[in-house]
Amino acid sequence: MNDSAPFSSDETAHPGRLVIISGPSGAGKSTVVKQLLQRCEVPLQLSVSATTREPRPGETHGKEYFFLSHDEFATRRQTGDFLECKEVFSMGHWYGTLADQVATGLNAGKWVILEIDVQGALAVLDDPRYRPLTIFVHPGSMDELERRLRNRGTESESSLTARLETAAAEMQCLSRYQYEIINESVDNAVTEICQILKDQRKKSPCSKN
Ligand code: GDP
Ligand code: ADP
Repeated sequence: MNDSAPFSSDETAHPGRLVIISGPSGAGKSTVVKQLLQRCEVPLQLSVSATTREPRPGETHGKEYFFLSHDEFATRRQTGDFLECKEVFSMGHWYGTLADQVATGLNAGKWVILEIDVQGALAVLDDPRYRPLTIFVHPGSMDELERRLRNRGTESESSLTARLETAAAEMQCLSRYQYEIINESVDNAVTEICQILKDQRKKSPCSKN
């Protein structure tokens, strides 16, 4: 037997998979995902989206998002660079998943995380090419959601209102997801999501389901 087997890497034995994490703005998705990337043993890659919204203080182009002008975004949309893209919160800001980010990750055997809004998730959820794992994160109540958004201090009053109105509609889509995570404690939420990923990875080490 030739022991220099061509496909011996862990990633090859465990093909990549798409993981959608969505839920209302302010639920704590970014906070949870950041820790998940640091703590979970599954080989993860965060898909960095493109957006036309302005960077918040401390955000860097290529790290949290690729910050594009409306013209750049429209051109890339026409070129077909997005796996999905949506105008989120009807405030004129576009967000999109870059198809090449996803393809590169999946081809490298990574579990590629899309932290995207519910409309975007619904566009990919049933796509037989991806068959994603879907996780909905929320904080347990609208009051808590509002408290978190206010405490974060990043939104104008109109942006905050738009996010809360959208959140109420997004909560109606919870049943379309495979898993619900109530993010009361960040630590617990990270542990629960990591366990889901590990269990799923164990279940299907050699298939893409
Ligand atoms: P935050 O979620 O309140 O931190 O605000 P952001 O402006 O960063 O994101 C607004 C919404 O857009 C959130 O629900 C994100 O999950 C969502 N979002 C981010 N990237 C994408 C994307 O590529 N596609 C879609 N459809 N939504 C995205
Ligand atoms: P999202 O990415 O879903 O919009 P963020 O990760 O930005 O949400 O979290 C919104 C705010 O809530 C942030 O100020 C964050 O520090 C805080 N936060 C996140 N998770 C929790 C939690 N479990 N308990 C209390 N505050 C939280």
